[in-house]
Amino acid sequence: MIWFVGAGPGAPDLITVRGKELLETADVVVYAGSLVNPELLMWCRRGCETFDSARMTLEEVMEVMIRAEREGKRVVRLHTGDPSLYGAIREQMDVLRREGIAFRVCPGVSSFCGAAAALEAEYTLPGISQSVVITRMAGRTPVPERETIESFAAHQATMVIFLSTGMLGKLSEALIAGGYAKDTPAAIVYKATWPEEKVCRCTVATLQETADGYGIRKTALIVVGRILEGGYERSRLYHPDFSTGFRKACGEDMKDE
Ligand code: SAH
Repeated sequence: MIWFVGAGPGAPDLITVRGKELLETADVVVYAGSLVNPELLMWCRRGCETFDSARMTLEEVMEVMIRAEREGKRVVRLHTGDPSLYGAIREQMDVLRREGIAFRVCPGVSSFCGAAAALEAEYTLPGISQSVVITRMAGRTPVPERETIESFAAHQATMVIFLSTGMLGKLSEALIAGGYAKDTPAAIVYKATWPEEKVCRCTVATLQETADGYGIRKTALIVVGRILEGGYERSRLYHPDFSTGFRKACGEDMKDE
């Protein structure tokens, strides 16, 4: 059994309890060294073999994992944040399926959740936005044409943009062309939950100059939307006039329990 484990956004204690236990019992760990905080490897027992996949091809990663698994070793593939987002895990899972090797996935705290915590933000505010678009600019990995930044910007929903810190000028242009007003609040969150975390608030028009000012070139998320400013409607869920399955509205009998 090979485990794909989400390492969380950076802080070593933001891995899940299950993920930590898997690291503690692993014989072999292949970690995405470009983004996984190496401090997480402190959970590994002495004698655990570790491999940094940043220096390896898919073929090399698979060879290490499959060999170890066939030798009866416990293997963990450690991915940053949650493995389901930009983790390139599908291609690894497909090789394992073809080889008849069992695997499971342990989720992790994605960096977009780490960024919300750093911003003290709620991505889904009543009356402002009830959706979060997670996307990226096209880089070496293309983005399907129907998923342009402009097309998502047209919804005015909250956006969290991964993997795009190197092209913020173009990102601003696309966000504005898509319909966000230039003064729409935005934020750049660098290394959320790491000791060197930086939270830079700006507008959609000033992303590039803000990043330049703080010397940020990578490992950041861009958050865009009116949720970053003052206004919103109070939640219905916690409103005294609103009944839920757990609580009766003031002056109303409990209907559905
Ligand atoms: N699976 C990861 C994302 C991997 S893609 C997750 O769930 O978070 C790598 C991109 O994620 C980076 O380019 C950056 O945009 C973002 N990222 C990862 N960790 C981050 C962090 N701690 N703070 C800000 N952005 C981060």
